[in-house]
Amino acid sequence: WDRQDFSWSKELENIQKTVFKVDKLRAHQLPTMNATMSGVDAILIMPTGGGKSLCFQLPALVSKGITLVVTPLVSLMEDQLMGLRNRGVQAAMLSANSTRDEVNTVHNDMTNANSRLKLVYVTPEKLAKSKRFMSKLQKMHQMGRFARLAIDEVHCCSQWGHDFRPDYKFLGIIRKMFPGTPILGLTATATSRVIQDVQKILNISGCLILKASFNRPNLFYEVRLKPQSQEECVTQLQHMLEGEFRGKSGIIYTMTIKDAEELVSELRKQGLRVAPYHAQLPAEIRSKVHRRWVENEYQAVVATIAFGMGIDKPDVRYVIHHCISKSMENFYQESGRAGRDGEKAQCIVFWKFADLTRQSTMVFTEQTGLENLYGLVSYCLDGVRCRRNIIADHFDERWESSDCGKMCDHCRTPQEHETVDLTTYGEQLLMILGKSASMDQRLTGQKLIDLFMGKGTPKLRVQEAIAKGLRRDRAESIVAFFLIDGFLREDFHFTPYNTISYILPGPKAEAGLAPSNMTIGRVKKLPELE
Ligand code: ADP
Ligand code: ZN
Repeated sequence: WDRQDFSWSKELENIQKTVFKVDKLRAHQLPTMNATMSGVDAILIMPTGGGKSLCFQLPALVSKGITLVVTPLVSLMEDQLMGLRNRGVQAAMLSANSTRDEVNTVHNDMTNANSRLKLVYVTPEKLAKSKRFMSKLQKMHQMGRFARLAIDEVHCCSQWGHDFRPDYKFLGIIRKMFPGTPILGLTATATSRVIQDVQKILNISGCLILKASFNRPNLFYEVRLKPQSQEECVTQLQHMLEGEFRGKSGIIYTMTIKDAEELVSELRKQGLRVAPYHAQLPAEIRSKVHRRWVENEYQAVVATIAFGMGIDKPDVRYVIHHCISKSMENFYQESGRAGRDGEKAQCIVFWKFADLTRQSTMVFTEQTGLENLYGLVSYCLDGVRCRRNIIADHFDERWESSDCGKMCDHCRTPQEHETVDLTTYGEQLLMILGKSASMDQRLTGQKLIDLFMGKGTPKLRVQEAIAKGLRRDRAESIVAFFLIDGFLREDFHFTPYNTISYILPGPKAEAGLAPSNMTIGRVKKLPELE
């Protein structure tokens, strides 16, 4: 698909240079465009910021008729529309907020052979719910003006993804209703289970799949142990911002708005130039914070994941996750905001068991919320494997080497491996859970770990707590490992104020199976038995 002698090749290149001002196409862009220009269905998998939009915008200008673009968020549509209009391209959008006049104009253009309208953006709801729009599409199709359907964030079709949207399921009928109209799906989600599901839902099982690499060679990946107290956390961050990251620009992600506000006020007390960014701040404040950060007036933004869209500061030198993200996809995208200029940058996650249960109470209602969260927990807990290999595995990328060459904490300092047999730990934890259950007591992760270490409510304690001599973080890691291993499980309960995660025996324990062995490295994160 890399050929440059198709009938459209010259015009494509011409528009690429004159309208989009792009000198050189990136890997997979030309093959994607050639495929969709040839009428072939395709899915393009490329990390965020890779340049997926060009792959349908450019063909839209070369093709006769209209390219229909499905996008989940109105804000994304507005961004793209503004960009296109600045380039003199005629594009329009239809959303729930469109006025009747706007709708009428777009509808007329769709079926007007002389119209110069090239792209129409719609939300999936619009496609799923508007009969009138559907009949317009049919007319457009009959006139031979339906050039292609581009589906942005196409993983939203699949409930296995991290962002399932029910209205996307409706797109499955497009292939049958508009035969001959090529479909181009675009996503930054690369797990093969999701992609296969998307193909099935869209009825494009035989489609071409193009996949760019997710490896970011200039990013250094690292997991550090998060201190137990907020005070220590602040001191640690202060040391980092004044030391290794002095004068360097970065992002610190927290889980909640409260976390972000608190951390900012503590860091400011230490004289650091940081600012909060989250959804509760008014739009003017948010854009002011963003601007000041871009101009390096603020050293770091302390943000919830609301800080994301539209950030393309090239010289972000570190992204610190002060709390784990809710999935590997999220982590990859958030940390991926570092080092856009290609220079070395650091991606650091602070791991702490309490953050796992905090995060799990937020995500457990999503279909694969816990599974996705545990995927990232297992990245944090791994005391041995190359971090980049774990990430690559997640995106179904095959690596020939298990060592990334000093670009992650584990490869920088080669570890001695030790395999720990967790059987007796597992037995004792089940004993503790059994005893509490018999006394009608439910245990949160923290309470369970207390008892495991021979502390906590005396009447619930077991004799000879075998984890007594362990450091708390080690005991926590073992319990976290049991959760992702399925030896233990979380059970969620609502109170009027919040949701509580209680720990129960998991499917593995209930089936009478022993827990897996845990392989650890001799590192500071998982210290030896003392
Ligand atoms: P994605 O949708 O994959 O997240 P975008 O389509 O928003 O990424 O593109 C990210 C940025 O890269 C945009 O500013 C776009 O103009 C730019 N871009 C895309 N392709 C190229 C290219 N071949 N050369 C240079 N810049 C490009
Ligand atoms: Zn590595």
